[in-house]
Amino acid sequence: MSVPYFSSGQEVIDTYHRCVQTTYGRTPIVFVRGRGARLWDADGKEYLDWVSGGRAGNALGHCHPDISEALHRQIDTLTFVSNDFYNPWGARLGQLLADRSGGRKPFFCNSGAETSETALKLARKWGHQKRGAECFEIVTFERSFHGRTYGALSATGQTKFHSGFEPMVPGFKYVAWDDVAALDAAVGPQTCAVFLEPVQGEAGTYPASPEFLRAIESICRKKDVLFMVDEVQTGFGRTGRFWAYEHAGVEPDVVTLAKALGGGLAMGACLARPECCALVPGDHGCTFGGNPLAAAAATAAIETLDKHGYIENAERMGNYLIARFRQWAARWDAIKDVRGLGLMLAIEFHGAEGKAAMASCLQSGLVIHGVGDSILRILPPMILTEAEAEEGLDILEAAIAGAIG
Ligand code: PLP
Repeated sequence: MSVPYFSSGQEVIDTYHRCVQTTYGRTPIVFVRGRGARLWDADGKEYLDWVSGGRAGNALGHCHPDISEALHRQIDTLTFVSNDFYNPWGARLGQLLADRSGGRKPFFCNSGAETSETALKLARKWGHQKRGAECFEIVTFERSFHGRTYGALSATGQTKFHSGFEPMVPGFKYVAWDDVAALDAAVGPQTCAVFLEPVQGEAGTYPASPEFLRAIESICRKKDVLFMVDEVQTGFGRTGRFWAYEHAGVEPDVVTLAKALGGGLAMGACLARPECCALVPGDHGCTFGGNPLAAAAATAAIETLDKHGYIENAERMGNYLIARFRQWAARWDAIKDVRGLGLMLAIEFHGAEGKAAMASCLQSGLVIHGVGDSILRILPPMILTEAEAEEGLDILEAAIAGAIG
């Protein structure tokens, strides 16, 4: 397999180590091509991709023909104009997202962290207008993840990510997951918003129960604070509904979305109910947010979801995979828990079997994620076929059997 610019995969790895900051603990695999749910490395080895390119970033598989076609068309038409002007692709995407979210209006940006920043700024502005400058506190949850920029990092309820970067932005309170009484106590007159992931993804896939989400909504309504949901990873159909909050029948004020939205390109959107859109010209901005290329890709991605019924597929395949994982849990005591929603799944072990199973999967050509040594995260693309599900299950089952010994 030819490797652009370099003579081998090893040369790519060496060049990274010499020339690129080592902010990631990368797996030593160099991917050079992708198609659907498949990836190929520099040596021509084929992999089944059960992480959607990694971290659930590319939900419709690699180089989806519908998105490629839209991108080719757009690249020859207009790729960038800033938000000093209007463009039809941003307008169309705004229309599609508003239709999908009960009329909520998006602010466009390029990443999940930027959507979090937008939501946090919107919440504080809304709070200041509503109850004055003392209304600035935002309640988030232990084990949460909202991104790596300072506001998003401060919202993230995991001290391991704060360590070395203190002080954090003030005004955040972290409440235990699924503890309604603690949340009720934490939300006071200084609170402007509660912010959470409907499934805590990066921590190891912990879904909020519908009852917990409804309790959060009811506390937010009772105390008149914004109910904000981070759907950066759960949104765009991964859980079997376009928005994961739909499973609980709740209606958040603010919803964030990124990762899958761009169909493989960088794209994010923070959507708010019209009456909560507190940000006005001069308050916030993003040079590349909603640029014609990313907006055309996202528009094509949404249309593609509908055309091929990928959301229904995510629900069907997710139910199938989790049922198989539960059979394994019944058979193997080493499995502590199996959890997830749609195609956002995890298998947790009592010990370090997860790490060994992950390494064995990679050897056998199945890409999955690990959290620590004990949790496997499984995030296949929403285009997954039954044959690809069976293929991945066979590899994973053998890897777990080997790891358990
Ligand atoms: N919010 C959630 C729920 C995420 O899972 C992530 C990334 O994993 C982010 C925010 C940050 O997204 P990004 O890496 O695009 O900045």
